[in-house]
Amino acid sequence: MPRIKTIKTASKTRAARKTKGRPRRSAPSASGRNPVGRPPAALTLIRASAVLTPEASIADGAILARGKRILAVGTYKKMEAAARRLHNRSRRFVLEIHDRRGLIAVPGFIDIHQHGGGGADYMDATPEAVRTILLLHAREGTTSIVPTLMTASKKDIAKAALAVDRIRREARRGRDKAGAKILPEIVGLHVEGPHIAAAKRGAQPRAFIRRFDPEAIQALQKAVKTPIRIVTLAPELPGAAAFIKFLDKRGIIPSAGHSAATFEQALAGFEAGVRHGTHLYNAMSGFGHREPGLAGALLLNDEASVELIADGHHLHPATIFLTMAAKPPDKVVLVTDATRPAGIRTEPLRTKDGKLFGSTLTLLQAVRNVIGWSGWPLADVLPLVTTNPARLLGLDKKKGALAKGFDADVVLLDPALHVHDVFVGGRAVFPVETRPRGRKPKSRPSKI
Ligand SMILES: [Zn+2]
Repeated sequence: MPRIKTIKTASKTRAARKTKGRPRRSAPSASGRNPVGRPPAALTLIRASAVLTPEASIADGAILARGKRILAVGTYKKMEAAARRLHNRSRRFVLEIHDRRGLIAVPGFIDIHQHGGGGADYMDATPEAVRTILLLHAREGTTSIVPTLMTASKKDIAKAALAVDRIRREARRGRDKAGAKILPEIVGLHVEGPHIAAAKRGAQPRAFIRRFDPEAIQALQKAVKTPIRIVTLAPELPGAAAFIKFLDKRGIIPSAGHSAATFEQALAGFEAGVRHGTHLYNAMSGFGHREPGLAGALLLNDEASVELIADGHHLHPATIFLTMAAKPPDKVVLVTDATRPAGIRTEPLRTKDGKLFGSTLTLLQAVRNVIGWSGWPLADVLPLVTTNPARLLGLDKKKGALAKGFDADVVLLDPALHVHDVFVGGRAVFPVETRPRGRKPKSRPSKI
């Protein structure tokens, strides 16, 4: 007989989650080698009180996944019937049913700018550090990550990229050797610097700021399999146009940031191929009514997307409202710019001269903050951490939405926006171990 594993969970309270009904673990693989992994033919059915798709919120809905991908999304009744049909047709399939009534299913979040968390930084350049950061953010619902490397020596940037590369390989094969944990997918690298303006370097070390060096990027990409997706640069520096074109030709997103560009210099950057702004307003020439600066240029350019750090320290909430009013809704991306203390403390780090040194955000906290400040519905804020970053990265056919053919990256939230479950490619991130306590949401419960 084919195996059916029905996993029912009382997801109403934390206490209930700890004591009963948590999935013990995913079904064992045929080979028995990987206790958390599953055979590729596994069917996963995730039931929730609401499933948010790009078009609608499906009441008593479900997501049906086969292996890594979503087969279909619809009402539970329909999905359950489809699952059983498939299951009966092929006895190879293991069917797991995760009953998460009381919760809302949303797509996994995508963070295109993060440096660390849980006490670690990607620049630590060890597999353990990478694993620590990924797990911290995964447990708060981030299922795709673009690790961000800081301005440093070529050698140190390469070392950090190699550590990321190694964990990416392990995570893709579903066998993270250290603890068989399910990790978020590493979908690229963001190289922040070293070609930036000294005056706007923020917490980036001045000693390693360098002239544009296409060969260094080429050498770095040669050393690692993880694709370099984003390079942050100052478009006003000599030689910028050629470097921007070089990146653009190779499918790397040239992003303006850590820059003192005037409005005119910013326009020249767009002309060369800049199509993204790294943490809009922070560490860049701000909007002035006589000199609109890089910030003004990014606001006006409907083709360019922008990052916002919604932690309440980097930007006033009104600045976020202003940005949302000015930009096309699909061109705003929430990022964490999270550094080492993320998940450990709430106050961000500062440099000796008082400049902010990244944030302590997770993307979920950024979403809660924006909802808390604005009162916007969850469905309106979610694209800022799902479809918008997916489109920017060219991953909008497989990430950022709960829809047929997409990766089964699913987050289950309660109405107060606490994470209860996270699935990466159909596999549960914390099936057995107790997860760290989430921060209390600042926002009121969200409408969906
Ligand atoms: Zn950064």
